[in-house]
Amino acid sequence: MNILSDHYFGARLADGVTKHGFRKWYERQLLSSHAHMLLALLSFFAMLAGLEGFTDTTGAGGERLVDLLLALACGAVALWAMRRYLYLLMRAEALAHQANCHECGEYGRFHVLSEDRPQRLTQVCCRRCDHRWTIADN
Ligand SMILES: [Zn+2]
Repeated sequence: MNILSDHYFGARLADGVTKHGFRKWYERQLLSSHAHMLLALLSFFAMLAGLEGFTDTTGAGGERLVDLLLALACGAVALWAMRRYLYLLMRAEALAHQANCHECGEYGRFHVLSEDRPQRLTQVCCRRCDHRWTIADN
């Protein structure tokens, strides 16, 4: 499994809904996004610890360099994790706003009919009343 693919994060709506249903897919997206937020916070504090070690002038030059490299690495991880957190959260919310059936008002109970990957459009059908609509993932 490629860790950078959409499959790893369960990000593709059609696959996630087909496999787990929309509500479970949405829940997993929220859990994943909040795990990234936690990683961002921990990395931020590790970055601060690295910077503190770097600014401590009593330490040896080699140790200070390691502290600086640690701070830079943790800062990069914190930025990536925060970006991923915001992306997953905003995307999940945007898709959740489109999960209501316009005919019967049922929330999140639909199955996937087709998917247009280049356009990132998913044609879905309500399980309750068979109304069809398109969910845009952009
Ligand atoms: Zn319906």
